[in-house]
Amino acid sequence: MAGIAFFNIPAHGHTNPTLGVVRELIDRGHSVSYYSYESFREKIEAAGARFIACDSYDAQLGLGSEDGARIARDTAFSIHVLVETTLALDGMVCRELERERPDCIVADSIAVWGKAAAMKLGIPFVSSTTTFAFNRESAKLMKQSGSQAISLLLSVPKMNRDVKRLEKLGYPIKNFLQLISNDRYTDTIVYTSPEFQPCCESFPERYSFVGPCILPPERSFEKNKGKLVYISMGTVNNNMPEVYRSCIAAAADIDAQVLISVGALADIGSLGELPENVQLRRWVDQTAVLREADAFLSHCGMNSASESLYFGVPMLCSPQTAEQGAVAARICQLGAGIPLATASPENIRAGLKLLMEEGSYRSNAEKIGESFRHCGGAKAAADKIESLILGLHNI
Ligand code: UDP
Repeated sequence: MAGIAFFNIPAHGHTNPTLGVVRELIDRGHSVSYYSYESFREKIEAAGARFIACDSYDAQLGLGSEDGARIARDTAFSIHVLVETTLALDGMVCRELERERPDCIVADSIAVWGKAAAMKLGIPFVSSTTTFAFNRESAKLMKQSGSQAISLLLSVPKMNRDVKRLEKLGYPIKNFLQLISNDRYTDTIVYTSPEFQPCCESFPERYSFVGPCILPPERSFEKNKGKLVYISMGTVNNNMPEVYRSCIAAAADIDAQVLISVGALADIGSLGELPENVQLRRWVDQTAVLREADAFLSHCGMNSASESLYFGVPMLCSPQTAEQGAVAARICQLGAGIPLATASPENIRAGLKLLMEEGSYRSNAEKIGESFRHCGGAKAAADKIESLILGLHNI
């Protein structure tokens, strides 16, 4: 029996895929501790792990809801937040790990304090990646504007200065890339299929592409017309009244039920009169809706995209961050969607109609969905973790 310590950030999309892996490891007789945040205690304990709360040790950065979007956009800011969090959690995390001496640490690619602790304490490490794995090849899909690239370049010294602060506490980390990148030498679990991962062949065997975790719908969703269009810009940066107004205007000329999940912050009253075929909701059971949907206008967050493809629903892609841009580019490359150049009512109407009328988009989406069903899932992820532990113990 081995001891395994998981680390994660407080985000459902990053936590959910790991819960099946935790259950699988426990079923195989291992013990699992899980470093996360109180709002995730219930689901982590339900998976069978010993929960360790990071909340009261965390950095007091006073981040608000707008900062979630900034973290996704601004690499220097995100590095600052990650370094501050690692420094703040250092005492508690190292004390606990020294006490339990796990055989292996599994940390989400953003929960860098898990990776940093593994490096500092010499504990074997597996990276858990809920987005695409990015290396020199696959990162080419993350198109950045010239000004974004320049500002990133200019902030490299600042990011490296930030990361240097970790050295004083014994973390052997020399630069920001070492902290955040997917390197060739780290055992890595990636929650997508080899078919959907861009440039999959450029990753070494250490990478296991185990497929996404699609939570089953909680209830069924009944459509009220022949076709159903679903629209969502995700949960982080979704207060986009202009986009919703364009969607509502476009919907008037679409012969389909149009369901828009507008999120918690939208001022629904400001969105105007709704045509009879449009419904606005603050939150929907997205997998239940996608199981019935014919087209999805999406920001292409990795979870939304995976859920859509799992149910064979083609996407009109409107990414907001570089990472979503890579997901959108891959969807379009595989013929399972089309890009939305600008969110005008005309473009939205034309894009959605094309996706519903031209059958190849749906069949290409279904093919990727099929590839997800053929992945090894939680069992393959647990195999990866066990093989690292067993290999090290030379059994
Ligand atoms: N989601 C949902 N109902 C909604 C809107 C979103 O269940 O009304 C879920 C969706 O199924 C997905 C997650 O929220 O699992 C959004 O994650 P994603 O990675 O797509 O985007 P993010 O919110 O992180 O930008």
